[in-house]
Amino acid sequence: MNRPSAMTLRISSNFDSGAIEVLSIASPGDIRLKLRADQGVGGDGAFRQWFHFRLHGAAGQDVRMVFENAAAAAYPDGWPGYRCVASYDRRHWFRIGTTRYEDGRLIVEHRPERNSIYYAYFEPYSHERHLDLLGRVELSPFASVSNLGATVEGRDLDLVTVGRPAPGKRPVWIIARQHPGESMAEWFIEGLLERLLDAADPVARRIREKAVLYIVPNMNPDGAIRGNLRTNAAGVNLNRAWREPSVEHSPEVLLVRRAMEASGVGLFLDIHGDEALPYVFFSTAEEVPGFSDEQRARQARFVEAFAAASPDFQTEHGYAVGRFQDELLTLASKWVAHRFGCVSLTLEMPFKDNANLPDGIAGWNGERSMRLGAAMLAPILQHLAG
Ligand code: ZN
Repeated sequence: MNRPSAMTLRISSNFDSGAIEVLSIASPGDIRLKLRADQGVGGDGAFRQWFHFRLHGAAGQDVRMVFENAAAAAYPDGWPGYRCVASYDRRHWFRIGTTRYEDGRLIVEHRPERNSIYYAYFEPYSHERHLDLLGRVELSPFASVSNLGATVEGRDLDLVTVGRPAPGKRPVWIIARQHPGESMAEWFIEGLLERLLDAADPVARRIREKAVLYIVPNMNPDGAIRGNLRTNAAGVNLNRAWREPSVEHSPEVLLVRRAMEASGVGLFLDIHGDEALPYVFFSTAEEVPGFSDEQRARQARFVEAFAAASPDFQTEHGYAVGRFQDELLTLASKWVAHRFGCVSLTLEMPFKDNANLPDGIAGWNGERSMRLGAAMLAPILQHLAG
């Protein structure tokens, strides 16, 4: 009879959002890994950065893991200053201080206290948690869940609607996780929804009176489950598909665009994470053709109100003008700004930490993303009052 030894050294990733390639695992001190490319039919495999795996059998030993192809990641600038996250129980995630980027390789050294430990690029947001969130929303008296249609792999693309449509109410759209590896985006949505559905919160009450909010907590569940960084199951970067979405390759965008055309859009937020910059910032819309003075003034007021609501947000660091060039109108927030003439912003949160308000143990994490989501209610209300 074969009994598994407690000391079997093994790495596994065959679970929700798992992703890694094992080159060799000679001993705890000599583990060689590769970042796995995004999976998807027709995908070119050009994107790799997300990892999430479980290490077994190394309790009390000095583990040294080398990610040999870190320089070939989608954003190699994401590695300097980055620290890997780890968890024993999949609830509490902490940063590994001895993460370093050297000669194009990411090296993580750690002595796990237990035989089973998970390592990841960022605190994951599981598909089960996603479904639980939708379940809680469905039971709220202020919200409902509806199905927009199916993803490439036939998963549900779900829409949360907060507030009942009525004459004079403004349509607000918020989407998250077009890039599935940016799990902080769905943590943000959970925090925003928790406050928005709070019966006693006066800001939430006023927002529900004045607006109908259409929220897509996860634009890309296929990519999230596969452990992709950027793409859906057809290998498409959804945030470059807004000008010409297709039934076959980007139904997720097509379905949301169709629902937006039906409801109209008076304010749009698209929630993301950035690999390199250790700050929370907006990518704004002034480069969009036809951007009006009114859009500019209202955008400035929105940004100012968010800065007042959360010290985690700042306006000093962000993307350089001209970053997106010809791709500009293929991006969700730029396409919406152009199509609907409203305030339309991409929010970026860090994978590393907020350098203005660092947390040595957690870095930027799910909890902080939730608080930021709750803080977003202040600028939304200000926008609706204006
Ligand atoms: Zn993104």
